[in-house]
Amino acid sequence: MTKKKMLSAITSSGAMTLGNYLGAVKRMVNFQEQYEMHVFIANLHAITVPQDKEVLRKNIKEIAALYFACGMDPNKSVIFLQSDVLEHAQLGWILNTQSTIGELSRMTQYKDKSQKAEESGKGYIPAGLFTYPTLMAADILLYDAEFVPVGVDQKQHVELTRDLAMRMNNRYGEMFVVPECLVTENKLKIMDLQDPTKKMSKSSDNPKAIIKMLDSPADIRSKIKAAVTDSENLIKHDPINKPGVTNLIEIYTTLKNVSLQEAMVRWKGKNYKDLKDDVIEVLLEVIEPIQTRYKELYNSLEVEQWLEQGAAKARMIANKKINKVQNLMGLNYKRR
Ligand code: ATP
Ligand code: MG
Repeated sequence: MTKKKMLSAITSSGAMTLGNYLGAVKRMVNFQEQYEMHVFIANLHAITVPQDKEVLRKNIKEIAALYFACGMDPNKSVIFLQSDVLEHAQLGWILNTQSTIGELSRMTQYKDKSQKAEESGKGYIPAGLFTYPTLMAADILLYDAEFVPVGVDQKQHVELTRDLAMRMNNRYGEMFVVPECLVTENKLKIMDLQDPTKKMSKSSDNPKAIIKMLDSPADIRSKIKAAVTDSENLIKHDPINKPGVTNLIEIYTTLKNVSLQEAMVRWKGKNYKDLKDDVIEVLLEVIEPIQTRYKELYNSLEVEQWLEQGAAKARMIANKKINKVQNLMGLNYKRR
């Protein structure tokens, strides 16, 4: 039986966070047994906000090595760098011409990030922030992905991708598989440690607000200890009234693979210090072996070879798809 296709990515806009690991990478690793996975490092998405070139290169290299250190297997999944496959930009442009200013203006990520860009004092909003979702739609549609596992923050972009796929199929003839969004079963969203009403984001300006997968044990300890809670000192899952405590509870249960009920039994009569100690312990348990493997891989030639192997496979698939699109749209001089 052929496996169903799935696609996922991480933007190389900063160091990989615990949010990215729990919302995306950990799930990808599990999915690769069951699905045909296509996974890439979204460097073209990263430049929708200003990037320092050396930092960008370092982030790409780090995310690549971390994918493999977390358990992505180059022999099971197609793992590559987005800009190595030119068809992403090509289809992204085509989809720009088929989407509307109205629908792109409604994207909440655009609203948030453009506001941040304006507030940063640079005085401009990159156009790429606005057309980010059409490039993301291209990423997905090139590979006939049936499922796209993302955090809830990306759900709206996958819905737009579905609309664009249906629109293109209706306008020009069947060319795209309409993907389904696969948000985490419990809609997991890891929150910012300093402002738990915001999601944890790798592009955050406050280092204390995010756990990075490459943080030292000392940093992890101090960030969790300093995480914002409330003055009640009562461990309770209540996202509306106790977002900080709820976030710590979710980090613990997800990393430990236990249910909320099990965890609550453990914390009966306990206080926030106990909760934080538990979170620190499980974080170190999970992160330390990943960091050890990461150090072995970071400067090895293997990572480069695996990415090249992945790009070669991805190019073959993407090229076939772009030819089909060009044929159906009448873009080429002669049908190919
Ligand atoms: P940026 O701030 O640059 O947007 P990010 O941390 O949001 O970075 P992305 O590269 O945009 O990371 O997202 C990669 C994947 O991680 C996506 O599937 C996204 O849904 C998921 N993800 C990102 N942040 C979280 C979070 N806080 N909780 C759960 N999943 C998350
Ligand atoms: Mg994001």
